[in-house]
Amino acid sequence: MATREILIWPDKRLAQKCVAVADVNDDIRALARDMLESMYQANGVGLAAPQVGVLKRMVVIDLQGRDGAPSGEPPLVLINPVFNDMQGELTWEEGCLSVPNEVGQVTRYARCVVDYTDLDGKPQRVTGEGLASVALQHECDHLEGKLFVDYLSPIKRNVIRRRMLKLKAERERNRPVQAAAL
Ligand SMILES: [Zn+2]
Repeated sequence: MATREILIWPDKRLAQKCVAVADVNDDIRALARDMLESMYQANGVGLAAPQVGVLKRMVVIDLQGRDGAPSGEPPLVLINPVFNDMQGELTWEEGCLSVPNEVGQVTRYARCVVDYTDLDGKPQRVTGEGLASVALQHECDHLEGKLFVDYLSPIKRNVIRRRMLKLKAERERNRPVQAAAL
């Protein structure tokens, strides 16, 4: 397993529509393990493949995972998720690993049913309510190139955007220099 760098918004790769996973093979299973490890290390409860620069329709969610440790419950790995039924409404204060240290209120469906393929290539269905419903919609939005900041007012989004550009510039400055063999 290996952690992968989580992209910070704004980034072109976070704004693309992702492609379906054609074959659930060992590469996809390795990607799922890397995504889970990256999510736990960043203290997140969900991560979508485009957030690690892979433009494939795949997300991982573990709502119980905290402080970098798995919850013990098997995490959800959803490949090619499709919403099947959505009901009700709820507003949640959301954050995102690609928009560190920022939150914003987003109104979403309170309950949703999602069909997906699991890591064995088998069809599955999950029903989410409350935070689980929010997480499913938030993560699947990433596969459409959409982030929670897209639901905020242009003013708030621009404030966050400026802070993220500053953060990215700082990270770039602090990045270790790659050794080049000449
Ligand atoms: Zn996110």
